[in-house]
Amino acid sequence: MPRIKQLSRQLANQIAAGEVVERPASVLKELVENSIDAGANKIEINIKHGGHKQIKVSDNGAGIYRDDLKLALLSHATSKIASLDDLENVSSMGFRGEALSSIASVAKLTIKSRQQEADTAWSIEAFDAESLADPKPCAQQPGTSVEVCDLFYSVPARKKFLKTERTEFTHLTETLKKIALAFPQIEFSLIHNNKKVKKFPRAEGQKQYQKRIDSIMGDEFMQSSLELDYKTDDLKLAGLMGLPTFARNNTALQYFFVNGRIIRDRLISHAVRQAYQDVLYHGKHPAFVLFLQLAPKNVDVNVHPAKSEVKFASPGQIHDFVRHAIQKTIVDSKPEDRLTLNAAVADKPARRGWHPDFRRGFRQEKISLSVKEQIKAYQPLVEDNLKTRLKDEAAQDYPLGFALGQLHNIYVLSQNDQGLVLVDMHAAHERISYEKMKTAWHNGVLTMQPLLVPLSLRVSELEAQMVEDTPELFRKIGLKLDRIGIQQIMVREVPAILADSDIESLTLEVLNDFSQFNTSDKIKQNINKILASMACHGAVRAGRSLTISEMNALLRDIENTERSGQCNHGRPTWVQLGHKELDSFFLRGQ
Ligand code: ADP
Ligand code: MG
Repeated sequence: MPRIKQLSRQLANQIAAGEVVERPASVLKELVENSIDAGANKIEINIKHGGHKQIKVSDNGAGIYRDDLKLALLSHATSKIASLDDLENVSSMGFRGEALSSIASVAKLTIKSRQQEADTAWSIEAFDAESLADPKPCAQQPGTSVEVCDLFYSVPARKKFLKTERTEFTHLTETLKKIALAFPQIEFSLIHNNKKVKKFPRAEGQKQYQKRIDSIMGDEFMQSSLELDYKTDDLKLAGLMGLPTFARNNTALQYFFVNGRIIRDRLISHAVRQAYQDVLYHGKHPAFVLFLQLAPKNVDVNVHPAKSEVKFASPGQIHDFVRHAIQKTIVDSKPEDRLTLNAAVADKPARRGWHPDFRRGFRQEKISLSVKEQIKAYQPLVEDNLKTRLKDEAAQDYPLGFALGQLHNIYVLSQNDQGLVLVDMHAAHERISYEKMKTAWHNGVLTMQPLLVPLSLRVSELEAQMVEDTPELFRKIGLKLDRIGIQQIMVREVPAILADSDIESLTLEVLNDFSQFNTSDKIKQNINKILASMACHGAVRAGRSLTISEMNALLRDIENTERSGQCNHGRPTWVQLGHKELDSFFLRGQ
């Protein structure tokens, strides 16, 4: 082995840069975060060739002292913390003091800065990290602009990993979107190859902020999302979460912020997935923009060089809080909330029902009722005349209105204050029976059943220890487990309803959940799966004709059932067509 020698500063910084600077987008993130920390409320981003050639960020923030310019480029030099105490309560985006030095070691970096009250601006170049020339006077508005050119010119091995200009530019815009979501009070503009490509104006109130979210998440999300605002003494979760019916094929529209920092976190993803699991179609992903706030001392932000991960002081509490907040918002989203939501976006010129797929499903030529059916369909109108008169007072209590009739024995048509409601009978009934069965089941006592042949399983030592230490934890969810060796456990009893399931993988999943999250929903999920399939078989099949009172009973059931807006497979159970939508079919008032 060769002898130990100290690395040169340049090489040390280049190695450090490996963690912070992966691609142009990571440079952008660091520079913009510096501008935010400097108190800027206007930030302009200039990109050339997808960031391969140039990434320049200019702000109107506090500026840097002339004499600090050299320091800013040294590693472990920061104005943001001075002690360990500061670190524990850090509220700035940066604090590690290594971004500028890392970037300077792998690219050509120029800083121009003018302090707010100063008449002179100063510029410093770090083309050669070993010898920094003194700052020179230059022209510059109050604030700072940092220009990074020829990324990785000095590390060809890393330059190879850069993707096409287009791909890198996509990453750059994605980074900007994340930051723009979290800092509405800042104006951002993005210029690519001298063309203005994006602008987020300063968002003053809630309404302008919604507009910004809209421009990032899209109209469909805005119209198919619920507002979430939930807090306890020391935690707060707020933002917008997509309805289960707005499920995506990937996780692209998932933005989760912890104290303003975007993060990707396994614990959080797990909590969100659990919250949605019962209402989301298998393999689909929810969309959301959620902001978690907690005291800085309860979250360690210094666990990842790019600060994209955090560590919570009490992960179990955070997991339960996030899951509960989302679940509760879904559960509480009764039809009337969605009607209000619909009203809230009603001032948009391009009108559309809250359910984004509606127009695609609408085919006028398909409506072909036979005469007999037409008569049958109008009959209830006459029968329900009295009810219609009572309707006005009842509108508040019966948001889904009163049944008019049935279409092809598949849909129930109902009239309410807002216009017309279409209900998928089978889907709605299935959801209702499922919720009823679930409530009955989970409120009852869990019957356990001994296995004819107890099952011996190999597990990790930690898991075996858990079984030995806390058998009651498992007993509570219907599992009787014993430790029989260092890495061996025995499954003796299971919930009776699950007796025919794959006990081995179920038990292993439960253990895995407990060891990671201190809680497990797996048993409940599996029971729910069985109940769901029972509900599906028991549900009114589409194609059966219902009487008007049966239809009205179904409408009342939907109103009173949790999560009734979507069926067990995540499809919507009903849609609202407003007066305006109906009018627009006939170009009325246009
Ligand atoms: P950190 O942000 O962790 O402190 P950086 O290497 O990103 O480390 O920046 C070093 C220092 O340079 C910062 O602490 C700050 O004082 C100064 N600085 C960097 N960018 C700006 C800016 N846009 N405006 C004002 N000061 C800045
Ligand atoms: Mg920084």
